[in-house]
Amino acid sequence: RLHVALALRLDSALNELRAIIETAPVGIVSLDQLGRIATINPAAERILDCGGRQATGRLLIELARSPELDALVETAREAGRRADAELTFQSASGSRTARCALVPITSGSAASLLVMEDLTELRRLEAMRTDFVANVSHELRTPITTIRGYAETLSDGFELEPAAERFIDVIHRSSIRLGAIIDDLLLLSSLEDHDALRRNGTTRFALRAAAADAVEHHAVAARAKLIDVESHLDSDAAIMGDLSLVSHAVGNLLSNAIKYSPEKTTISIRVRREGPEAVVEVADQGPGIPEQHRDRLFERFYRADKARSRDSGGTGLGLSIVKHVALVHRGHAEVESTVGAGSTFRLRFPAADAAVAPA
Ligand code: ADP
Repeated sequence: RLHVALALRLDSALNELRAIIETAPVGIVSLDQLGRIATINPAAERILDCGGRQATGRLLIELARSPELDALVETAREAGRRADAELTFQSASGSRTARCALVPITSGSAASLLVMEDLTELRRLEAMRTDFVANVSHELRTPITTIRGYAETLSDGFELEPAAERFIDVIHRSSIRLGAIIDDLLLLSSLEDHDALRRNGTTRFALRAAAADAVEHHAVAARAKLIDVESHLDSDAAIMGDLSLVSHAVGNLLSNAIKYSPEKTTISIRVRREGPEAVVEVADQGPGIPEQHRDRLFERFYRADKARSRDSGGTGLGLSIVKHVALVHRGHAEVESTVGAGSTFRLRFPAADAAVAPA
């Protein structure tokens, strides 16, 4: 009797589990020791586009035809622990992108579990947004250039009343500001397109070259505020990537340091090697950034100090560009700050070792 009751309980628990797996929005595939599919749920069939065909018993390699997925299976098996990757599967009905996790299982009949979250729709919407922003920015460029041109013509070639002169000046400055926002938006959308680096090509360069470019570019602005820029650029730490993008990012950090610091202060810019990373940092003696803003500073149009930022003509996109330049180089951006004492912004990149340098 007890056995029967237990068996019934077990049976209903199993049914429940089966229903959960069948209806789960995530793809679930269990694999045996040889990499053959033991079970597969409908969500996984949709991602791998094998609905209707007999999938169980077949090799995952054969079904998914994705070398990256095979590599993931191998990595998880060798390391004996979970491995994650975002993969794209091609099939006759189009491509699907999924975040995949391979989890080795030590007990039970299955050897590992493949769990997949379908990101196709999300990535498609992101691409649409990026395209939209890029198109809008592109369309706005021409009329802004026209407005700016006419404002310049008016103030240069005509005798104007003092009031009109002032208005034209406002129009002129606003058009320059709008132009800067549009340029930053275009740069951001090209950075969001993950192929940005591949398109531009990558080279190996010393990080100090990017820092030196930035210092040179902003020397006039620093001098205008009697700010002393101390360069510590003796490290020859190198990275792989796009020198002009990294110079632009370091330039944004330096430009902010100059913008937000009081006159007659010192800014130091430093490059160094730190373990496997090449690091560039810009430290200022400015107002600092209150703790509650630090996490969000790198978001587009986020401003810690709204009034000051607008007065200084910033676009609100500088740090967002910095973050994306770091990301496309597989690095990251960070900030440390003490209110009243100053801020230090840092970019960390994987260092390119001399051994991997092209001959
Ligand atoms: P913005 O064009 O407004 O400078 P950013 O994205 O470059 O846009 O910076 C975002 C915000 O971060 C700024 O509005 C400012 O409030 C703050 N910030 C950036 N750098 C510094 C700095 N060195 N010192 C103090 N505040 C800073």
